Amino acid sequence: MNARSFEPELRDDCSRCAALCCVALAFDKSDMFAMDKPSGAPCRFLGASLGCTIHDRREQRGFRGCMHYSCLGAGQRVTQEIFDGRSWKDDKSLLEPMMEAFRGMRLVHDLLLLMNEAAKLPLEPQERREHQRLCTELRPAEGWTKVSLDEFERGARPSEIRRFLSSLKSTAARQQEQAKQATGRAR
Ligand code: SF4
Repeated sequence: MNARSFEPELRDDCSRCAALCCVALAFDKSDMFAMDKPSGAPCRFLGASLGCTIHDRREQRGFRGCMHYSCLGAGQRVTQEIFDGRSWKDDKSLLEPMMEAFRGMRLVHDLLLLMNEAAKLPLEPQERREHQRLCTELRPAEGWTKVSLDEFERGARPSEIRRFLSSLKSTAARQQEQAKQATGRAR
């Protein structure tokens, strides 16, 4: 729901989504959200065809949080790939499973974003191989299912990927230092 530019696989496409953020996420009343909303309750401004009825007035109406939010493309993937374009709006029994799958897919896409950033670092060959192996886990050839997302979320892989990313902190610091030195030389 915002205009930040990510790689195509991490871009929101709200037109192909069952407005999952508008139902699954909880808001606390604050300067970002004008009301409290529990997880699982549709936003009161969600229209019958799953569009936001105050989309052009979100800032004035006190919903800056929505303007800054991105699901990183998880919403439309869950709707289209896991639920074949179906919606909780037409079948209330889909609400819980769609929210669970959305949580799992957001985790996958959050980690993909970090791994895409890590790919830009000057990785050692062994780190590059490990990066590729873990990216394959995030992009299974057979695609994601509700079951495989649940297993991923509960399993050890997210922690393994986070550990790998933490292990690259010194590489990132080295790159920053080299960039600083190069800038200093160019002056
Ligand atoms: S979950 Fe993502 S794709 Fe779906 S409506 Fe929200 S921002 Fe758009």
